[in-house]
Amino acid sequence: MGDFNQPESKEDFLNNFQEVKPLMNSTEALYESARCLFCYDAPCITACPTEIDIPLFIRQINTNNITGASNTIYRSNWLGNICGQVCPTEVLCEGACVYNHQNVKPIEIGRLQSYATAQAIKSGQKLKKDAKKLNQSVAVVGAGPAGLSAACELSNIGYDVTILEARSMPSGLALHGVAPYKITNEQVLAEVEYLKQQFGFTIEYNHPIANSRDMAYLDDQFQAIFLGIGLGATRSLKLPGENLHGNWGAVEFIETLKISQHQLKVPQRVVVLGGGNTAMDAASECARMGAKQVILAYRKGLDQMGAYRFEYEMAKNAGVQSLWFVNPLEILGSERVEAVKFKKTRLENDKLAILDEEYTVPCDMVIRATGQSKQVNVFSLVEGIQYESDGGMSQGKLPFQTTNPKYFVAGDAFNGGLEVVNAVAEAKKAAVSIHQYLQDL
Ligand SMILES: Cc1cc2nc3c(=O)[nH]c(=O)nc-3n(C[C@H](O)[C@H](O)[C@H](O)COP(=O)(O)OP(=O)(O)OC[C@H]3O[C@@H](n4cnc5c(N)ncnc54)[C@H](O)[C@@H]3O)c2cc1C
Ligand code: SF4
Repeated sequence: MGDFNQPESKEDFLNNFQEVKPLMNSTEALYESARCLFCYDAPCITACPTEIDIPLFIRQINTNNITGASNTIYRSNWLGNICGQVCPTEVLCEGACVYNHQNVKPIEIGRLQSYATAQAIKSGQKLKKDAKKLNQSVAVVGAGPAGLSAACELSNIGYDVTILEARSMPSGLALHGVAPYKITNEQVLAEVEYLKQQFGFTIEYNHPIANSRDMAYLDDQFQAIFLGIGLGATRSLKLPGENLHGNWGAVEFIETLKISQHQLKVPQRVVVLGGGNTAMDAASECARMGAKQVILAYRKGLDQMGAYRFEYEMAKNAGVQSLWFVNPLEILGSERVEAVKFKKTRLENDKLAILDEEYTVPCDMVIRATGQSKQVNVFSLVEGIQYESDGGMSQGKLPFQTTNPKYFVAGDAFNGGLEVVNAVAEAKKAAVSIHQYLQDL
């Protein structure tokens, strides 16, 4: 098992969750930026959902034009600092870097991006272009990456923007979900504060849109509404024993961990069910919280897992063990979780076959990383929203417009759950659609 002891203080917590991509100093940034080949038709740009002009900002860093570099980044991606730290760069920009073809380490684009934007945040560098004030107001529901990106873009165009957020803090899963070894809560909140100061949008906290009266208020007060509400709670597996103490949904567990930090006590033996990135995060985080046995249990094998390989390696390096080809049957225990009973499985012609052989793993806690449910209740409050036969939302005339022309949607609520950078990219495009819609009114 990994060498992590249960953290007793904030300092212990930060020590167990040391940043995997720490901030560069100026010498490192100069050296790393000098390695870039400034490729024509750079593949790193096309691999980035926000299409940041990567060679340009790297050249600007290399000529010590940090203001120019952060402007280049923010022009394409309003959450440039958060994305520099949390993006799976290994499979996006850095994965596309031409150096990979020569077996040379790709340019550390994410860390260079964080280097430039951290300085913009620290100095309060001016971002907003002096847009003409437009006499229309837009409501943004949800202050997650999608909502924040839409709010920045709309404010930049000149709209009066109010964000209504159910929780008491901004940033959605960037704050409540992303692993603490990728970004600290303070870093996430610093970028949001910076953006709020630059653009002047308002965030009303503890303001969930929960019923038809709330929706009628939005409809009445605002000319357009952007829904960046993400996804809901972790789906149930409908297993017997899911009501026992010590049984958690992954998203709820991670949110508690991110807020409580060292105050959360994780027991000695944990089983994490699932094979996606959230399962890797939950398992890795339990190991770093001092659990002595963390077992990742997945229905199929390593090659079928949905998680990125680098996320799996990170969990393995933290001491997480794996149990392949097991399907959970029941969570056992009287009041508390005591074990999970599985049936063994195997792949037959790529189809999962559940075998008769049973297998029980004793544990004190179970985490279900089995995906998040859709926020159907909120969407059902909007009149006229239609769906396709596959369950996807039907689109209006403009990109990210729903079939009620006043309502737009992007981010996890639209794409079913991808990465922060996808939410940011989609929401920026949705804001442009909102502008077009309001201009045509
Ligand atoms: C455990 C976990 C780890 C992740 N790690 C990474 C990572 O390392 N890198 C990465 O790029 N991506 C990661 N992701 C994915 C990423 O966090 C999401 O894709 C991204 O946050 C989606 O942004 P969003 O704004 O669409 O939704 P969310 O981040 O979910 O934000 C939605 C916001 O809307 C608010 N809201 C919801 N309903 C209402 C309502 N009715 N009224 C008012 N407000 C409402 C919520 O409180 C929340 O603040 C992770 C996801 C999870 C679950
Ligand atoms: S592909 Fe790599 S070397 Fe080429 S511009 Fe992008 S970061 Fe620089």
